[in-house]
This record gives sequence, C-alpha cells and structure tokens, in this order.
Amino acid sequence: MPFKQFGLPSSLVRNVLALGYVTPTPIQAQAIPAVQAGRDLVATAQTGTGKTAAFLLPVLQALLERPRGTTGALVLTPTRELAHQIEAVCRGLAAGTGLRSALVVGGAPAYPQQQALRAGVELVIATPGRLLDLLNSGHGKMAGLTTLVLDEADQMFDFGFFPDVKRIIARLPARRQTLLFSATMPPDVARLGQAILRDPLRVAIGTQGTAACGVTHTAYPVPAYRKTALLQHLLAQLEMPSVLVFTRTRRGARRLARALAESGQKVGELHSDRTPAQRAKVMQGFRSGAFPVLVATNIAARGLDVRHITHVVNFDLPHVPEEYVHRIGRTGRAGDEGDAFVLVSPDEADLLARIERQLGKRIPRLHLDDFDYVAGGAPALPNKPGRRPPVTSGGGGKKPSRGQGSRWRN
Ligand code: AMP
Repeated sequence: MPFKQFGLPSSLVRNVLALGYVTPTPIQAQAIPAVQAGRDLVATAQTGTGKTAAFLLPVLQALLERPRGTTGALVLTPTRELAHQIEAVCRGLAAGTGLRSALVVGGAPAYPQQQALRAGVELVIATPGRLLDLLNSGHGKMAGLTTLVLDEADQMFDFGFFPDVKRIIARLPARRQTLLFSATMPPDVARLGQAILRDPLRVAIGTQGTAACGVTHTAYPVPAYRKTALLQHLLAQLEMPSVLVFTRTRRGARRLARALAESGQKVGELHSDRTPAQRAKVMQGFRSGAFPVLVATNIAARGLDVRHITHVVNFDLPHVPEEYVHRIGRTGRAGDEGDAFVLVSPDEADLLARIERQLGKRIPRLHLDDFDYVAGGAPALPNKPGRRPPVTSGGGGKKPSRGQGSRWRN
C-alpha cells in the first residue's frame, strides 16, 4: 500500500517519497489511520520500526488543517539526541508546508526556545525538564494543544522523568489526543497509559522487548582485563565499518575511547559528561563517517538512528535485559542487517543468561584461536596456574566475518 492511500495531503506524500519511504512500515500502516481518525494510541514497537513518521505524518496533517500561530502538538522524548532526530525527520516531512517546529531541550540557550514558544510554533519537540522550566516561567502557550506524543515512554520512566511528564500533562488541555510509544511496557508505563489515554488503540509491532530482525548475535567470552585487547583485535581483523560500542559507565567510555585512540582508531565518545556542543559534534562525525567507532553509554545512545551502523558491541553487559534490546536496535534498522557482539566476562555470565531468556534464544559463543586470552595476566587478580580462558565452543578458530553462518538470526 503506498502512502497516498492514507489520504495525506500531497505535500506530505511528496516529502515522504523524497525521504525514500515507498511502502509504509507495519507500525505506520496501523498507526496512521487510527491517529487520523482521532483515536488515542498505545504502541509497543521495536526500535527502528519507523515509529517517528508513524506519529509525525498524521500529526502534521492535523496541524495543516488548523490555523497557524498556536502550538497544536507536543512531542516529549527522553534525550536531546532523540529530540534532534525527531526534529530532523519533521523538517524533512514538513518541508515546504510552512509549518514551524521548535526544539525545547536542555543544554542549549533558553532564549530562542522561549521566543519560539511565545510565537506559538505549531509543533514543539521537547525533553521534559527544559519544557517544564519554561512552562513554569510562563513561556508556553499550550491552551490550543490537541495532540500529545510521548515517545520512548519507558526510557522517560527509567530516567526519572515521569514526575515532570505528569506536571507537563497537567498543564495541557484535558480534551486532546494522546499517543504513547514505548519500546517495552513495564507496569509504570502501562499505569500512566491507563491514566491518560481514552480507549486507545493498542498496537504491538513484533514481540515486546525482542530484538530487531536482521541482527546476528555473537558472544565472545573473555576475561574482563582482556576486553579492550579483544575489541582492538576484532576491529583489526574484521570488516567493521561503523561500530557503536556500549560501556556501562562514563568513566569506562572515556577509558576505552582513549585506549582505542592510542591504538590508532578514529573514535568518538558520547556520554553525559560531554557538553551538548561536544555531543553534537561527535554525532556529526559519526554520522558522516569521519570516525568509524563511537563509544557510548546507554544514556546518550538510546534511540539513536544512524542508518549505517554495522556493529553494536556490548563491551559491558547491561544490567537490565531490555537495555540489550535497545542497544542492538541501533543496528539492523529498517530492515538492514547488523551484528551484535557481546564481550562477556565470567562475572557477567548471569547477565548474559538473562538476556538470552529475554530473547528466547541462546547466543552462540565464539572463541578466537588467533587471540591471546591471557596475555600479561590479570592486573588485579593474577592468572592462576592452569586457569584457562573461559571460552566455550564456537568457531573452532575460524576467523569470523559478518553474517557468519554459525550464528543465529532472529
Ligand atoms: P524510527 O523507528 O522512526 O527511528 O525509524 C527508523 C528508520 O527507518 C529511520 O532511518 C527512518 O528514516 C526509516 N524509515 C521510516 N519509515 C520508513 C519507510 N516507510 N520506508 C523506509 N524507511 C523508513
């Protein structure tokens, strides 16, 4: 079914095609007609499913049908990076329509955002903290709002943004359409949905909390102190043109990025210790391919849409299995293929087992015969005589390559 069949204005159909979207994704096919019909929506969608256009297209259509100069729609999202991403898609979809959008996010000067709110831009894309600050200081005009979109609601909850989100909702007109998007549906998100949605259409794309299709998973058992060396080895041996590496902590990200840079890798780091300007610059460099490796923490990288990421490396395992799904959702986007590597130390075996339970599959282990798993000994815990690297079966020393057949796909 082409986009034309949704009865969208020709300007939006033209812009959709200009973005290269020919056929609606499943979430778009289900959500767009329901939102056009005025229904509330609660959508559980895998990352990378096209949910941004699923809500933006009908929202922009509704805005085109209203008088200009009042804010008609608000999108709340957990991070600045996501807000920028949504705004970029919005700019593409709304090109030439005269609709105005504004970003209201922390870490950027407040004055232009105050001006935009005062001018009544038609669409506001915001992170909760900054928007609430501006509303509290009397800058927003939300009385004419008809649509609220909560994007990545589960992450907003994880980040502790729900109190702010609820305060913002309390300032919006009660008669409005509300669209709630969440990758997973933990009880607190479901409760918020029950409180604010009216007879919503429920859409679930894929199984809740499962990984995107087209992603091949491989676990590399390795002592913790050899993880950096193993990653360097993989980067040197494999064709890995665009790699997103996740660490659990900011300190870990800094240290790893430094070690990779010292070994000659072009690498960027993305975490909340970096200034907004640094974060924007590093994203630009990674997007443009200026450096092929980006080391990031969850907080900075969730939801990022960089189409060309070929590998997601879990340098540390996330404590929450759902987070693994979000991390690897950075690759294999919109039907592409991608590889997810897990560097798993013995003390992370339980975390890996929990991830495997979440995925419903065992992730194949791969042992590399051409990598030295014990070199130098453990700095903190010296290698005991006879202690072997904790590797299991797998590749039999085969040099792994992208899409290697021994791994499963989901
Ligand atoms: P999202 O889940 O909104 O972050 O979208 C994931 C990726 O899919 C983005 O790179 C979009 O540009 C792309 N995309 C969204 N809708 C379509 C479509 N109908 N056809 C092809 N690509 C799409």
